[in-house]
Amino acid sequence: MSVSSSSATPPVGLNPGALTLEKENTYFVFVVVISIGVWLALAFSLIGLVYAAIFGFFLWLGNGLLVAYLRAEAVRVSERQLPELHATFLEVCGRLGMARPPALYVLQAGGMLNAFATKHAGRDFVVVYSDFLDALGAGSAEMKFILGHELGHIRSRHVLKQILLAPGLFSPLVGPAYRRSWESSCDRYGAFAAQDTESAVRAMLMLSGGREHGPRLDATAFADQHAEERGFFVSLHELTSTYPTLSRRVTDLLALRTGARVSTPPRHPLAYVIALGLPGGGSSATSGLLVTVIVIGMLAAMAIPAFAKVRETAMAKACANQSLMLASALDQYHLEHSKGAEDWAEVAGPGKLLAAMPVCPSGGEYSAERRGDAYVVTCSVHPAHASHLDRTVPVGRTP
Ligand SMILES: [Zn+2]
Ligand SMILES: [Zn+2]
Repeated sequence: MSVSSSSATPPVGLNPGALTLEKENTYFVFVVVISIGVWLALAFSLIGLVYAAIFGFFLWLGNGLLVAYLRAEAVRVSERQLPELHATFLEVCGRLGMARPPALYVLQAGGMLNAFATKHAGRDFVVVYSDFLDALGAGSAEMKFILGHELGHIRSRHVLKQILLAPGLFSPLVGPAYRRSWESSCDRYGAFAAQDTESAVRAMLMLSGGREHGPRLDATAFADQHAEERGFFVSLHELTSTYPTLSRRVTDLLALRTGARVSTPPRHPLAYVIALGLPGGGSSATSGLLVTVIVIGMLAAMAIPAFAKVRETAMAKACANQSLMLASALDQYHLEHSKGAEDWAEVAGPGKLLAAMPVCPSGGEYSAERRGDAYVVTCSVHPAHASHLDRTVPVGRTP
């Protein structure tokens, strides 16, 4: 099903220079101050620095694997692949003033309706889940909203800030508030990219109500939930969440029809007190993703030594076979010429017993030695595997 918009309602009061909300910049200052303080404290306590380095390493490893997964398994959108989506993406990049479009991928995610942006090794990636693409359509204003939202994250360097400002982001109250302001700002990027608030609202309603019923939901009634549900637990949920509630996001988008200011209806005062005791980022999909990324990284780190061992064994085996081949070639040469070979070139090379000189996969050098009536070939890296035909010859390093 593809959603079509009949008449576009451009957002009021949005211009490309001022899509980021004022409050995002205000929270940024708080989070930077907290982060610098925590980083300095970590730097002065050596053990803290070690933990930070380990954490950073696993984060880097996990993220690298996630990006590798995208590159290898997801569909890279281009002129040749999903050209309609590619054209939409370029249009949105152009509208948001991004001269170098990031890489766009479509990923099959088991029916989930979502999209995300990430970064690795200085390159930016936008990912749209395939069912979301099916539901919205490649050329729709709804898709422009989603792509614009993710490009907003990239233009605002949120992925980098998520790492550098991690201490501040984990602080109670201000951390989640800063993260919520990211999403609110990026919804404005999305609405500006779509140039249609109705489509932006419909895409958001699909996230709330699913692909079938979502687009037909009553947006105003859903937005009213934000104004009506102001109890203690809803307040606590809002204060600890790193995303604005969906009903709040719809409220904000609906306000863009007229450019009216939305003020947050008062929260339960006790919720602030309790939230102060809870670390930030506790209840979001992103922190779930963060944990997954770290777990993948740790598993990979455990798998790498095992993998290296298997590889080393395989190389030693290959080398042992080559030593055997060389030893039997020397034997054969001795039989034919009634004297030993002077040089490897006499047994290995074009027209010789061996078509080419074998190369040890671990970079070892071969040397030969006659013992009794047999040749022993030894590799400088794998001496234990030097061999002669089926005979077991005591093997030592050759001089
Ligand atoms: Zn977002
Ligand atoms: Zn070797």
